[in-house]
Order: sequence, then structure tokens, then C-alpha cells
Amino acid sequence: MRYEGAVFRPPSEADSLIIQLTIGCARNDCTFCYMYKDKTFRIRNLDDVIEDLELAKNFYPKGRVKKIFLADGDALVVRNKDLLYVMNRARRLFPELERISAYAAPKDILMKTPEELVALKNAGLGIIYVGLESGDDKILRDVKKGVTAAEMIEAGKKARKAGIELSMMIISGLGGRPRLVEHAINSAKVISEIKPEYLGFLTLRFFKNTELYRDYVEGRFLALRAPEIMEEMLLFLGNVDSEGTIFRANHASNYLLLRGILNTDRERLIRMVESAKTTNNYRRYVETGF
Ligand code: SF4
Repeated sequence: MRYEGAVFRPPSEADSLIIQLTIGCARNDCTFCYMYKDKTFRIRNLDDVIEDLELAKNFYPKGRVKKIFLADGDALVVRNKDLLYVMNRARRLFPELERISAYAAPKDILMKTPEELVALKNAGLGIIYVGLESGDDKILRDVKKGVTAAEMIEAGKKARKAGIELSMMIISGLGGRPRLVEHAINSAKVISEIKPEYLGFLTLRFFKNTELYRDYVEGRFLALRAPEIMEEMLLFLGNVDSEGTIFRANHASNYLLLRGILNTDRERLIRMVESAKTTNNYRRYVETGF
């Protein structure tokens, strides 16, 4: 297969065929994000995208491609007509395809009409991955996410109403020490409103080509240590109400592995966090990246 630059996908898309519909991220502003800093955003020529699908069709054994992930950072920025064209061709080339997925920016979801989202769902868009990062407006502003908590809620509900599953991600420690409480409680509020099918937690890491890394090394950003991350998680779990959400904090960056279903497992998860905090028993964490 042919790819431009580094390609990222969620862990749950490990066995998916990755097709780049766009290159980079249309926003590329978030102060903590390193993923597409070396790419200039563009939507790929659709003929090239279809050619990639055909190459994959010839490369993989019949029946092997069951899932397709549309990279790079925010495939839903593409107009619906073109998205549907690509998705319909993908389904014809791979009749065994069970779902198509993509990262999605909240503003792109909001730009689409409810009918357009339903059309995408009917064409196979089964799940989208949305970085909530934080439900706190000040933090969202500080990290230049370009979206408010209210817009996150509206976008999340709109996607779910169209029948598209939603996987959201929060970054532990993103508000630093000054916004620990607000980050936890306001993120819990946003999740409680949306009630996504999946919720994952990463822990903030500092990557060298980012603005946040510079803030961190120059002392402008006060990072949380493990006990404070636990305090933040306890506040989040104590305030969230999202019945049925599959909850995971099992990324390499997490100090403590947590998995369960909200709200059923909430008390068990709280006990696990309290126990780690009391015994000071954490996984190794690497605070700066490449
Ligand atoms: S976090 Fe998402 S929206 Fe922000 S720069 Fe990275 S890919 Fe783009």
C-alpha cells in the first residue's frame, strides 16, 4: 500500500485497511498534538483514493478486508458527495466490509445536516473517533482546540442521533495543576450529556515539536504527577453519569489500567484508583515524547 508520511489510527482499528482520504489535519493547531505538524493539509484526489482501494483489493486475499479506516486527521471535512462516492466504491470492491470509520472533528459533524450524517451511516460509517480532550472551555481555548464544550455536546449528540457510534477521548492532566478540578468535572458533564458508546483516557505527554512541550520545559505549564492524575480521575468518575459507555484507560501513557462499563463498574473503578493512590503503585510513564 502507498501512504504519505506517518499514518495514525485508533488502537481498535489495528486490523483495518487504512486509506488516506485526506493528508494531515485541516486545523493542526492543538498545542499538545504532534501527529500532523509535518504535513500540509489537503483532500486527496479522489481518483488516487479509488486507486488505493483497487490496489488493496488486488493485494489482500478475498474476504480479508472487513474494516476500513479513512485517514488522516478528520475525514469528515470532505464534502458528503465525495465521501459517499469513496465509501460506495469501497463497499462494491469489498462486499464483506462490515464498517468504515474515521477520526472526526466536532465542527465537521456540525457542518453536516442530520440527513447527510444518516446517509454516511447508511453507506457504512459505523463509528467515528472524536477527541474531546477536555470538557472545560478554558482548557479547550488554551490548547487551541477550536471548539467549545457546548459544540462538543451538540456534535456528539448529532452523530449518535444519526446512528453513528461515537468513541471519545479525554486527556488526563490537560489542564495542568491550575485546572485539575474543572477538567475533571466539566469533562464528566460533557460525557454525561453525550453518553458515547466508548470513552478512552490517555495521559498527557509532551512531544518535542509541540507548543505545549515548550510551555512545559519553560515552566509555563504545571504538569500533574501520578497522585494528582488519580485525584482528577476520582473526580471524573465521581461525577460522570453515562450508562452503558465502555470505559477504557489502557493506553501506554496511563499510570493505572482501568476498564469497565459505566455506570455499572464505576464504584469498582473508583476503588481501584483509590487503592493505587494509597499504595503509590503506578505503571511507568514517559512524560516527554519524540
Ligand atoms: S488533536 Fe486532532 S484536531 Fe487537534 S491538531 Fe491533532 S489531529 Fe488536528
